[in-house]
Amino acid sequence: MKKYIKARKSSHTSTVSESAKIPFFKSLGSVLRTAKVIFRMDWRNIPAFVLNQFFITLQPFVALFFSARILDALSTGAERHVVITWVVTAVFCNYGVYLLERFTACSSNVEGITLYWQLYQEMSRVMMRADYEELEKPDIGLAKERIYRSTRMFWYGPWEVPGVLMSVVQGITVVAASLGLAWPVFMPVAGEGIPWGTILMVLFILVSALYSISAETRLYRMKEDGLEKLAVQFRRSNFLYGYIRETQGAKDIRLYNQQKMIQKQSRSILDKIEGLSKERADLSSRSSGIRGAMSQAVVCLAYVSVGIRALKGVFSVGNVVQYVGAVTQLSEGIRMMIYSLQHIRMQGPHCQEYLDFIGEGDDPRKYRHRRDGKEPVELNKDWEIVFENVSFRYPGTEEWALQDLNIRLKKGHHYALVGMNGSGKTTFVKLLCRLYDPTKGRIFLNGKDIREYSTAEYQRIFAVVFQDFQLLALPLGENVAASVGYDKERVQECLEKAGIGDWAAKLPKGLKQPLYTVEEDGVNISGGEAQKIAIARALYKDAPFVVLDEPTAALDPIAEAEIYSKFRDITDQKGALYISHRLSSCRFCDTIAVFHEGRLVQEGSHEELLSQTDGQYFRLWEAQAQWYR
Ligand code: ADP
Repeated sequence: MKKYIKARKSSHTSTVSESAKIPFFKSLGSVLRTAKVIFRMDWRNIPAFVLNQFFITLQPFVALFFSARILDALSTGAERHVVITWVVTAVFCNYGVYLLERFTACSSNVEGITLYWQLYQEMSRVMMRADYEELEKPDIGLAKERIYRSTRMFWYGPWEVPGVLMSVVQGITVVAASLGLAWPVFMPVAGEGIPWGTILMVLFILVSALYSISAETRLYRMKEDGLEKLAVQFRRSNFLYGYIRETQGAKDIRLYNQQKMIQKQSRSILDKIEGLSKERADLSSRSSGIRGAMSQAVVCLAYVSVGIRALKGVFSVGNVVQYVGAVTQLSEGIRMMIYSLQHIRMQGPHCQEYLDFIGEGDDPRKYRHRRDGKEPVELNKDWEIVFENVSFRYPGTEEWALQDLNIRLKKGHHYALVGMNGSGKTTFVKLLCRLYDPTKGRIFLNGKDIREYSTAEYQRIFAVVFQDFQLLALPLGENVAASVGYDKERVQECLEKAGIGDWAAKLPKGLKQPLYTVEEDGVNISGGEAQKIAIARALYKDAPFVVLDEPTAALDPIAEAEIYSKFRDITDQKGALYISHRLSSCRFCDTIAVFHEGRLVQEGSHEELLSQTDGQYFRLWEAQAQWYR
């Protein structure tokens, strides 16, 4: 177990720092590929969004261009109809761009909650389809956590791709439109001599761009460092919040008077978050002050250089307005472009992590290799499942959870697995249901390696109630049937057999009653009730092999005995496997398999095993029996 924890730790630290450092072009590739994923979800989204940003940014330039034309017409004493034509054209063009901006805005829902859910849905879809084994791997667990954390706390990741596109489109549009409107300023004029004003202005624009690069880089580094430094604080605050929210924590908070302790911890987390945010805000305001001064200098120089030419009669009044306006925008446009490059660098690693997660990264198999055979499963005859020298180690661990296991399970036979905690019983069930493949050895169904069968078909054989089963905050009937549509009578019959029919009959909304209080009319259920509903769900599946992995831990001994005796009848012609710590519940099984430290140490009927007084079963039985004597 220790080794397992170590493996998790090392994988954590390495992947966090790796995710922050990838080359720029790789970041750009990840951002573009993520844009493609968003485009695939709804093809209009990305083009409409990009066009929308383009039109928004273009609007002031259109206005500037026409203002200059109207001013020229007025200052040169042009005829009235010329002035009117310019005014009408200006109104039409401004309104046309405005309409295009509105139209594209309506066609795109790329920002906000819709995109957020679409991208989460994609993640959920992948997680539901991935092999279970993949999901339990430490690195995928951490990737999931990082994706959730960075998006919840920082708005990093694929959700920010529209933001990146926005800054790229704005930067390019502003630079292109300003150059388009101001290019004559940068051109030499015949007989003018050395245009010092223009040269100085260009120099200032370049210096301001260089300063922007260094300031944006520092801000970017600070943000990334902050993200890493705050990661622990955010995990802590998440844990604390969960603790306060859950009923279990709420009880302990009151009874152990933990309020002050928790408040102190929350305060210290908040202090650290505030400290880092302040540092960043200080740097940001300092650099924007310096940038502001530089762009004012550019504006002054623009006035000087354009004004001198205007006085010489090279530029008209309208030109002065247009050129100075456009040059002023140019340095801002360059800053936007630099910011957008940093934005790409910042979002790239997070996008890459998301892409890896959904299987669309550089290595599509990074998180989701699927093991699947093609053979259909035939169960008409007397089927049997055989474990042959099976050993298993969980991914990322060095300890054997199971070793050299040989066992045979047959139709119509009832088995019990007993053994101490951690002896490998649940692991055995996971291998049996092919949630994992053995590290060594093989498992056969009717003489064929189970890897040759289609996993989905093979898993249809089993109805399992795990110790850590989970019900959904959905109507009772849907929970039992694991489906939206269901056979009401059969659901009721299964609830009856699981010993919870009377309780269900009293629910105001019957099978339509939502479980848990996520919904207003939901009901809270006790641990015992939940277990019985989970058992009813296993019965409804009507699978050939039923597995109950300590499903009765929350039940009283009478309810447990009742369920086991009912199960004998229900599963008479099926295979059944029970795991229970109450050995008395297992004594009626045909075969009892005793696990100890990952090995099968004994196998036989209750009487046979009890007669072996030096065996593990005898020791376990005696240990329990002494409390009842
Ligand atoms: P049992 O069901 O008999 O209590 P398990 O099969 O749950 O035992 O566990 C067997 C061993 O495998 C234990 O040492 C346990 O710590 C380890 N183990 C169980 N689940 C995991 C897991 N997901 N990752 C790593 N080790 C695990």
